[in-house]
Amino acid sequence: MGSTYNVTCNDCLHAFEIQIGGGWLAYNKLCIECGYSILLPRRAPKDINHLMSENEIKIFLEDRSKWSIKGSAFEAKENEIIKNLTEHCECGGVMVCEGDNRIVYRCASCKSSNLNIIDNGILSD
Ligand SMILES: [Zn+2]
Ligand SMILES: [Zn+2]
Repeated sequence: MGSTYNVTCNDCLHAFEIQIGGGWLAYNKLCIECGYSILLPRRAPKDINHLMSENEIKIFLEDRSKWSIKGSAFEAKENEIIKNLTEHCECGGVMVCEGDNRIVYRCASCKSSNLNIIDNGILSD
């Protein structure tokens, strides 16, 4: 279950929301350099029973309509492929799972990390 936070940038006053914690269906991975985030499914597709190839995983990660909490757990090999596919941000930074203490949340507009984050208590998911 994730939480939504209201954020105001102290530098450019841009106001936006960030979601922390993902949900049963998915979790976030963030770039520790630029704050770029991606959403990843927690479960493997429920209609595939073989070890997925890198290509199958790529397609699955991009098609959220296929994500299901009824899916099976990813095999170790599949987790490894997902890690390799999502390890590097386009900016050259490292992508880590949410909760990692290297993560710095940044303004969506000016990339400043000087943010005022308010937990508005609204649970998403
Ligand atoms: Zn980055
Ligand atoms: Zn800003």
